[in-house]
This record gives sequence, C-alpha cells and structure tokens, in this order.
Amino acid sequence: MTSMFTPDTEWLTLEWHQATVAAGRLCMQRCSDCGRWRHPPRRYCAECFSSESSFVAVAGSGTVESYAVSYRSLDPAWQERAPYATLVVELDEGPRVLAVTELQPSEVAIGRRVDLRIDARSDDFAVLWADPAT
Ligand SMILES: [Zn+2]
Repeated sequence: MTSMFTPDTEWLTLEWHQATVAAGRLCMQRCSDCGRWRHPPRRYCAECFSSESSFVAVAGSGTVESYAVSYRSLDPAWQERAPYATLVVELDEGPRVLAVTELQPSEVAIGRRVDLRIDARSDDFAVLWADPAT
C-alpha cells in the first residue's frame, strides 16, 4: 500500500499536533481564562479575547455531524481507498474536528457515535481516525 502524504504543520496547528502526539490521545486547545474550546487552534479566545491557553486531553468520543465521500484523490494512497468518507465529528466536549475513517461510506451516518484514534506519523503530525464507538 502506498504511504499517505504527511503535511508540514506550522504555528498553532503544529503545537496542537505535538500536544496530541506527546499525550498519545486527542488534545484540544482550551482558553485558560474562560474555559472555551478553540478549534482550529488560534491565538486569541473568541469569547474573552485572552491569549492564554493550553492543550487539554479530551475523551476522544463524539458524533458524526457531517461527512463527505470522495471518489478521487490526488494522493495515490487515498486513491487506493476510494471511495472513502471524511467526517466532521462533534466531540462530547463540544468542538468539532475532521477525521478519516475506515468505515465504508455506506456505514457512515449523521448521528453515528464514533471513537477517535490517534495515528502519529511523526512527533509533529497525527491523523485522526474515527472508529465505530465501542
Ligand atoms: Zn476565553
């Protein structure tokens, strides 16, 4: 099987990936002053404008809010998997993340419960996989 493209992440997105890889589980940025989740990671809180934050481990479970099915990909590794679904998962804590899945598109449904698994490709990048909830 062809290896998947691994992007070079930077700035706060890099910090998010590094925190997740170091913890071995999904971490999300959270405002240190008001507790609001920030995703995608950003410098200032949309609620209280604080610049203080940290990356906090979350349970890693959630619900499929939306998804798209791809029939073609420019990445040969993903083309081998086509058609495949990319999911928007609303975490139980509230923020939404993008995740890939090994579920067939016909097995994916809005409202389906999933557990997120970290696939560390390096110290600087992790792929989020959504598996059926256990
Ligand atoms: Zn805040």
